[in-house]
Amino acid sequence: MVDTMRLTAREAKKLLVDGEVSSAELTKAYLDRIAAVEDRVHAYILVTADNAAKYSTKVDREMQAMRGPLAGLPIAVKDNMVTEGVTTTCASRILHNYMPVYTATAVRRLWDDHVVMLGKTNLDEFAMGSSTENSGFAVTRNPWDLGTVPGGSSGGSAAAVAAGEALWALGSDTGGSIRQPAALCGVVGMKPTYGLVSRYGLVAFASSLDQIGPLTRSVHDCALLLRHIVGKDPRDATSVVAPAPIELPSAERLDGLRVGIPREYLAAGIEPGVRARFEEAVALIEELGGRCVEVSLPHTEYALPAYYIIAPAEASANLARFDGVRYGYRAADADDVVTMYERTRGEGFGPEVKRRIMIGTYALSAGYYEAYYGRAQRVRTLVRRDFTDVFGEVDLVASPTSPTVAFPVGARAADPLAMYVSDVCTIPANLAGLPALSIPCGLSDGLPVGFQFVGPAFSENRVLDAAHALETALGFTATPSLGGAEAALSQSGGAEAASPTGDAASAPPEGTAS
Ligand code: GLN
Repeated sequence: MVDTMRLTAREAKKLLVDGEVSSAELTKAYLDRIAAVEDRVHAYILVTADNAAKYSTKVDREMQAMRGPLAGLPIAVKDNMVTEGVTTTCASRILHNYMPVYTATAVRRLWDDHVVMLGKTNLDEFAMGSSTENSGFAVTRNPWDLGTVPGGSSGGSAAAVAAGEALWALGSDTGGSIRQPAALCGVVGMKPTYGLVSRYGLVAFASSLDQIGPLTRSVHDCALLLRHIVGKDPRDATSVVAPAPIELPSAERLDGLRVGIPREYLAAGIEPGVRARFEEAVALIEELGGRCVEVSLPHTEYALPAYYIIAPAEASANLARFDGVRYGYRAADADDVVTMYERTRGEGFGPEVKRRIMIGTYALSAGYYEAYYGRAQRVRTLVRRDFTDVFGEVDLVASPTSPTVAFPVGARAADPLAMYVSDVCTIPANLAGLPALSIPCGLSDGLPVGFQFVGPAFSENRVLDAAHALETALGFTATPSLGGAEAALSQSGGAEAASPTGDAASAPPEGTAS
């Protein structure tokens, strides 16, 4: 009765309200789907099946008292948002057993609305990566072709939605980690304006760039989820009062909308199939009454290098707290405290995290601070000004979300620079703090292509409306087959250790839990 591959949250809500399905039945449909396909997809680090079943029954029983707009709808949460009483690992062995004592504000708001949490999804360790291959526990597979990556770092959330293992999900986006996996998995993903959603309880990667946002099956669902997580939070000084409430989008036309296509993005090595789908979507915008013009964001080529100074610099400071004393894993049998720190961090962090900590520490060191970090911050200002200038001429900017479709597992794993380039089209919006959304705009070689809108700060409603109109006109209805398993077996790109219950989340070698 519940087709988890196609059902949207809006439809699920209607089924619940009409009494066609109970929250317990709805939740069970997702848990059954997880049980059926999770050993192939590895979208989750932990499935909280018992809690989900119990809580959904409670919502059904107390429906009168719990009649919030999202009550009884199941959701998946990226495992870098802390959840009281449910382990939060950031897909890192250093936090393999970390049990938070509080809950991230965005998640708390959903829990207060009686949303049912299905589990915690896989990611690149501490959200550093673009393929979910950097997880310390398992490589998530793209449901469209199990031999390819789902993108990252919110690859678990994106794959869970695409594979029908979640109705919708939360992700986080520091340089593209919601939008790029949304694009590669054929779902909708949005990074809100910096400050719109509280970062309290989001384990910090790069604090000036991180934002939590929705991964959903439709733009309407994206707005529905977003409106319930936004708002000022006294626990996050960078959070703001939303200037206007998030509206549920209804636009079908784009009359008068001016859309800028930055020529620098199209020069950035976009593969032909992606470019073709993007150009078809641009033609459709014109048919809907919008006007597309070429614009220039001249500092685009410096955005990626500036990001890869700023993000590692902030990460090196943020990750200093993982020292074996306060959280998670502690190396056993160290003779003194310095050895304990060194071994804990040496054994607990994976290679990409270590690379970022080293780059960041170097960039912030006394002799080099101005040359690297100071200069990167000035470039960031130029990138932001490019957008300010362009938004004097156009209402929105549009580009492909990712230069390529999903790539094979392992293809970029040994080449960090090739991996970093996955985010050329998404990083500028983070540097400028702007809202950006990706919707599926067709297939290339059987794999989804993402279309990105970027808007001025706090223009969420405009972005959502435009995306809704385009989504309706595109009519993308394809669903993944979970095929390509042979390819998945022959190209296995990492430890496939996670089980649907997360029990196999492996501890670092010879570790003791602190
Ligand atoms: N892929 C980018 C990185 O590795 C962005 C990650 C993110 O948005 N969390 O830093």
